[in-house]
Amino acid sequence: MNDTNNQYNNQITVFELDKLDIRGRALRVGDLVQDIISAHDYPDYINRCIAELVVLSSLFSSLFKFEGIFSLQIQTDGAVKMLACDVTSMGGVRACASYEGEDTPDTLFGKGYMVFTVDQGADKERYQGIVDLKNDSLIDSVQHYFNQSEQIPTGLKLFIDQNKDKQWQASAMLLQRMPGHGESMQEKNKPRVEKDSETQIADWQHAMVMMSSLTDEEMFDNTLEMNDVLIRLFHDQEGVRVYEPVQLKKHCRCTSDKLLSVLRSLSDDEKDDLIEDGAVEVRCDYCGENYTFTVSDITNQG
Ligand SMILES: [Zn+2]
Repeated sequence: MNDTNNQYNNQITVFELDKLDIRGRALRVGDLVQDIISAHDYPDYINRCIAELVVLSSLFSSLFKFEGIFSLQIQTDGAVKMLACDVTSMGGVRACASYEGEDTPDTLFGKGYMVFTVDQGADKERYQGIVDLKNDSLIDSVQHYFNQSEQIPTGLKLFIDQNKDKQWQASAMLLQRMPGHGESMQEKNKPRVEKDSETQIADWQHAMVMMSSLTDEEMFDNTLEMNDVLIRLFHDQEGVRVYEPVQLKKHCRCTSDKLLSVLRSLSDDEKDDLIEDGAVEVRCDYCGENYTFTVSDITNQG
């Protein structure tokens, strides 16, 4: 990895369009998505789902203020059985899938649902949302959640592709009309000029048109700072305010202790099925890390 060519990669950028009362997120996750995909041996239609899920989970998680783990999961009765991704408040991301069939199916999901959870530890309340999958599309499902459940107009544009070296790259932008006019977290105390709803709608449509003009070239270009993309896109007239980007990295929370406690909780028959040549080999579904235990490791209850 060449860091000088990679300094604007794997980052999520938080921004606001002050004059339009819109908040936004922009992200570019080339190596991160490729690293996560490389740990598995999924067919390409699943790799694309993983890339989409990583992008959507990263964007979604950054809309919350939390200390802990954000997770996004889908369960379906279609070819893609399950997709899961989680993002920690430190920017650690992991993802995995289960599916049926190596060939790209006509319908990915069929009937199913998407659930997201913000888990801040045992002493704090969990926050959870659930939505039916829409139009066989993860993006549509997330958008549907914001528009219907939260009643926050939300626009999303995703860029997902493989480059000429067959490396997956992903990038995205999200725009949201600020919940409650003029209630920007950072700008709470600033006096605001009330806008009529016609102006608000026109502002929103204007921002959406701007976002739709983004190109693959600028969104995938690791040498181009997202700050510059945003300023180029929204100029000064929309009052774009860009905050320090948050770095994302591949990170799995599996440990041999966690796996051991799962293995020890199995029935004797289940344990017997796993033992081969006096050892138990387990592979983490998320990161592909292999763990080897002895028979006495998994029978020892201490
Ligand atoms: Zn792992």
